Amino acid sequence: MVDQPYAYQRIELTEPDWKRIPGWSEVTTAEWESAQWQRAHCVKNLRQLREVLGAGLDEAFLADLERDQRERATMSMLVPPQMLNTMASSTAPDQPGFTEALYADPVRRYMIPVFSDRRTDWPSHPYSSRDSLHEAEMWAVEGLTHRYPTKVLAEVLPTCPQYCGHCTRMDLVGNPTASAGKLKFGLPPADRLAAMIDYLRVTPGVRDVVVSGGDVANLPWPRLEAFVSALLDVDSIRDIRLATKALMGLPQHWLADDVRAGMERLGAKARERGASIAIHTHVNAAQSVTPLVARAAQAMLDTGIRDVRNQGVLLRGVNDSATALLDLCFTLLDGAGIMPYYFYMCDMIPGSEHWRLSLAEAQHLQHQIMGYLPGFATPRMVCDVPYVGKRWVHQVSRYDTDLGISYWTKNYRTGVEADDPLALTREYPYYDPIYLLPPRGQDWWRARSDAAGPLQLAEKI
Ligand code: SF4
Repeated sequence: MVDQPYAYQRIELTEPDWKRIPGWSEVTTAEWESAQWQRAHCVKNLRQLREVLGAGLDEAFLADLERDQRERATMSMLVPPQMLNTMASSTAPDQPGFTEALYADPVRRYMIPVFSDRRTDWPSHPYSSRDSLHEAEMWAVEGLTHRYPTKVLAEVLPTCPQYCGHCTRMDLVGNPTASAGKLKFGLPPADRLAAMIDYLRVTPGVRDVVVSGGDVANLPWPRLEAFVSALLDVDSIRDIRLATKALMGLPQHWLADDVRAGMERLGAKARERGASIAIHTHVNAAQSVTPLVARAAQAMLDTGIRDVRNQGVLLRGVNDSATALLDLCFTLLDGAGIMPYYFYMCDMIPGSEHWRLSLAEAQHLQHQIMGYLPGFATPRMVCDVPYVGKRWVHQVSRYDTDLGISYWTKNYRTGVEADDPLALTREYPYYDPIYLLPPRGQDWWRARSDAAGPLQLAEKI
């Protein structure tokens, strides 16, 4: 065999033994595979983490976590047993070195962030913001972002069965934290969903609806089915994508009989209408793809929907190498029949600098993963540029690598630029993490930040 930078090996899926975790040593397979049991036993705070993992977890870790929750966290803690069980799975809390293994674990790094993970020089980029993609500004009706000409994003609820530390929608999703309050929808849920359907009925240019949140797995099934069914009744809608990280974080939900039966009804209706439904999930590390996740993905494909696809997020310390990304993609594809689709650059929310990669790093990773996966399953690295939308990382128009500013153009108007004559010629900036810049660039940002304060920087550039 020719020696290659990446050596493909079929990875066998494994469900780590949850009985190695002290708090779950008596949990039966039937309980573990019950969505209700998983939801009832999610870890939501330090006390529960300590109870589940037992005395093997160092107090120093808990203090590190407590400080993060007090000073930095933008998402509250919510970790289903299914996800916690995949962390540090080669060891157990009663083994020496467990805390170190937990610190180093890629899934832990984004699901249970601790203070020492974060940058202290630039914890947040000066241009980071709560709704960094300005989705709420582009709401056509409450929760319905109309950013692209033919596509909309329907935020049908503001909760998930699991909360990721880097969540792009930290402005809206989840419970308030010590440092981040949350936007509240104003309309009652039924009225909000009805208003979305009404808007789509009179907007025939939209053919594609991403049904998201939050995570659709938290919407009571009858309400989700009624909403998707109503979307299928709108003649112009051809593609519906259901966004659910829970396919990985809580696969038990998608394996439940009522959910499978409901998805079969929706799949049948979609086929009858010549429309397609796909599930879009969010997996960032190969270890998350367990046999239960594969079963859930297969169960969804068996309902006759068109596809199950993965949109991961590029995160330092989690998947920032070609090996980690290719291992993940092959595990998704070979083990679970999930199509690798996108890797988004981590968005510019507060406290995310330690996770974010520079554009140059993302471009390099795109180059490194080419040629191994089938073309149809080779994910694109994507930068979601504020006021622009998704751009392939190589589509950048100009890139000042000293200052870490990339400039992007676009070929359509968003909902807030209907009358803007410059919308299609203007360059829109995006920013690399400052700590990665050469000294000249770092000095430039420091001088401006000292002089103007982060929030006034927009006028200075
Ligand atoms: S599942 Fe998605 S919406 Fe929910 S917290 Fe994670 S990134 Fe945010």
